[in-house]
Amino acid sequence: METAISQLKGVINGSIVLPSDSNYDETRSVYNGMIDKKPAIIVKCKSTEDVVKAIKHAKNNNLEIAIRSGGHHGAGLCLVDDGLVIDLSDMKKLDIDAKSKTAIIESGNTLQDVDAATYPYGLALPSGIIGTTGIGGITLGGGIGYLTRKGGLTIDNLLECEVVLANGEIVTANKQTNPDLFWALKGGGGNFGVVVSFKFKLIEVKNVYGGPMFWPIEKAREAIKFYSEYTKNASNDLYGFFAFLIVPAAEPFPKNLWNKNVCGVVWNYTGPREKAEDIFEPIREFGPPILDFVGEIPMKDLNGMFDALYPPGYQWYWRAHYIKELTEESIDVNLEYGSKVPTMHSTTHLYPVDGAAHNFKNNETAWAYRDARWVQVIVGVDPDPDKADKVTNWCKNYFDALKPYAMGGSYVNMMMDEGQERVKASYKENYERLTKIKGKYDPKNIFHINQNIKPAYLR
Ligand SMILES: Cc1cc2nc3c(=O)[nH]c(=O)nc-3n(C[C@H](O)[C@H](O)[C@H](O)COP(=O)(O)OP(=O)(O)OC[C@H]3O[C@@H](n4cnc5c(N)ncnc54)[C@H](O)[C@@H]3O)c2cc1C
Repeated sequence: METAISQLKGVINGSIVLPSDSNYDETRSVYNGMIDKKPAIIVKCKSTEDVVKAIKHAKNNNLEIAIRSGGHHGAGLCLVDDGLVIDLSDMKKLDIDAKSKTAIIESGNTLQDVDAATYPYGLALPSGIIGTTGIGGITLGGGIGYLTRKGGLTIDNLLECEVVLANGEIVTANKQTNPDLFWALKGGGGNFGVVVSFKFKLIEVKNVYGGPMFWPIEKAREAIKFYSEYTKNASNDLYGFFAFLIVPAAEPFPKNLWNKNVCGVVWNYTGPREKAEDIFEPIREFGPPILDFVGEIPMKDLNGMFDALYPPGYQWYWRAHYIKELTEESIDVNLEYGSKVPTMHSTTHLYPVDGAAHNFKNNETAWAYRDARWVQVIVGVDPDPDKADKVTNWCKNYFDALKPYAMGGSYVNMMMDEGQERVKASYKENYERLTKIKGKYDPKNIFHINQNIKPAYLR
């Protein structure tokens, strides 16, 4: 084993981190502080060839493989005990072609990196709302955020991927070349190979009109109904995610609201600025809101607005449902648990997945819930490890209570380790096709540290 490791060290452009190294703990740490996995070897890749060599080393030495881009996955699926981690976080090439409005982005980039690069051109990639999230995992699971209604999911803007397959082959996947693989990568997660880089089309967005708006918790039933009705027929330029939360005891929030349970919406309006006040007039008339931070803001700043509130290392337990409709009964559940958010960082968000995301049918991408209106994520978070059980229990109970009103599966990017049936339900009728594609590109299930799709013959 030692000889194999020194051989690998000698042939890669990147570096290797072992349990005996002083930077091992720092390198194996991930965003979720609940995760404490100890890989045998972490290969910090610098090139596609490094990825090929890392896969070969793992196979020759019978090591399980995990793939890491931004390290954000809640279940810590980018690490594996006693196995090999293909760490892509040093692969940060990012090229924008402003003329064709496209970008080639290596997997080590975070959403912050993407926003910083696209913003000066007045362009944006529809993706997530926290800057430290990795482009690798979020794209392969779908990718939802403030621009979903305007520009679709992140995968709806994907043009091409460069992939290292389980057999070490480097391939391109796009509409013409390996179209089955390309289809599977649009939501199928890390099951089909190591994606080294992505090519995206970008949309034109620079400054928007958005930010948070809160109402008293006592108004939550009316507020959630108003929100649901108002956004239902709104243009795709209007996006807002509904939330139950506790107001942080910090500036810029007014002191009289600190630590109060409230409900609210974080808005993003991408339409003409001169129309914004009219669009928001009925919203402001409802209530009225007890906090209104909605105004003109650069898209990149709205995207990064909550980064400081959620630094890496906190305890996270989260689960998600797809929701088609807010019935009276489901609103009852939301009011019950939403008004008992257990800690200041815990929350639940209803992320819209309608608008432009509905331009596709369920079977046009591996991501299978085009008929959903929201992904509802229930997030238990706290900096203190002693509160891990408290936030976990609240999340699980809320999730269970909401289950009868949800569509069945989960958004794989916001799932914990919830078992095979849940993975299947998350792909619905696409699961069968995915198992066949998995059987073609990774027949031995080398890439199984993920929300695993079993190769057809292994099931
Ligand atoms: C604070 C926070 C905010 C979030 N906000 C959003 C949001 O707004 N919208 C949203 O859609 N999601 C959001 N997510 C969920 C996020 O999309 C997932 O956690 C996603 O998996 C993170 O990607 P990553 O590269 O950072 O994670 P990693 O943990 O590095 O990767 C997750 C998994 O993806 C696979 N993978 C990653 N990169 C590759 C690759 N290059 N090739 C092959 N497989 C790969 C692997 O199986 C890996 O285990 C958020 C997560 C957190 C913690």
